[in-house]
Amino acid sequence: MEKRVEIGRTGLRVTPIGFGANTIGAHNLFQNIDEEVSRETLRAALGSGVDFFDSAFMYGLGRSEELIGEILSETGRRSDVVIATKAAHIVTDSGVKLDNSPEFLTDSVDIALKRLQTDYIDLFYIHFPDGVTPPDEAVGALQRLKEAGKIRAIGVSNFSMDTLKAANKDSYVDVVQDKYSLVYPDLEEDMIPYCREQGISFIPYTPLASGLLTGKFTAGNPPQDFRKDRPHFQGQAYLDNIAKVNSLQELADKHGVSIANIVLATTLGIDSIDVVIPGAKSPEQVLANRKTLQADLTSEDVAQVRALFK
Ligand code: NAP
Repeated sequence: MEKRVEIGRTGLRVTPIGFGANTIGAHNLFQNIDEEVSRETLRAALGSGVDFFDSAFMYGLGRSEELIGEILSETGRRSDVVIATKAAHIVTDSGVKLDNSPEFLTDSVDIALKRLQTDYIDLFYIHFPDGVTPPDEAVGALQRLKEAGKIRAIGVSNFSMDTLKAANKDSYVDVVQDKYSLVYPDLEEDMIPYCREQGISFIPYTPLASGLLTGKFTAGNPPQDFRKDRPHFQGQAYLDNIAKVNSLQELADKHGVSIANIVLATTLGIDSIDVVIPGAKSPEQVLANRKTLQADLTSEDVAQVRALFK
């Protein structure tokens, strides 16, 4: 039986390597998305013991949720897994708007329940703040959905420190999801300590820095897609990152795992991070990331890896 952890104080128990489903059916975010590969990737995740799926309306404009619902229905595994999803975006021909109004969030939960073919969502996040709705009112709407049994835990994502504090005025926030990895550790300064103090679980997104921390990119072989425009993939910063990542090979060999496994295990070594949700574009990547469970890092290993990226 694999080790399970509680996500903060939510009562939701999962194995610590979840699955980030932002490529699943996500035709609006990535090129060449093949839904058959998405299905196979979800089946591989379930088959390998993944029991935590992180989705959002924005991942395929509902298609990620639909495919998760389809595979859980096909396998009869709904009650074995924890599903997280998010909403805030309204997508129209004239662009994208954000909405955190109680009416919008309530409707979004109802629609997500249908797409996921379930009658409860384990963890529901406000995906982005809309800058208009008072954050505590938005979270208050989620608290009512929790009391009604439609959702089991409340999350917020991409909130600034001030917006998070306002959202958590009544201590209803269970989980914060934000961008964090070894190459962008800024939230260690304020958000992660705040979460620790408040008993909130912090779930880092892009824990592999969109693939940079897997060791597969080299100086002469940078990614050719949207990533090449990101600061960590450019110029000297990219070369420095590649050198640091490659230097993890020795530790990876010592533990009999991959560099990506070392990175994910190190991230799990940070207080108030209970689970990680690496994304994957193929069954092979899911299975490779699951092997993190075999990386039994010491606290010295974790400190050494974190120090490398400081
Ligand atoms: P990530 O986990 O840092 O990187 C995932 C990407 O790295 C994959 O799509 C794959 O891309 C590559 N990869 C993964 N495992 C690999 C392996 N073992 N070997 C080699 N390459 C591998 O970034 P992410 O998927 O963007 O973030 C994780 C999750 O966080 C998402 O899936 C989503 O659920 C969530 N998220 C949330 C927000 C938010 O606003 N709340 C924003 C972003 C993400 P390639 O094969 O193309 O290299």
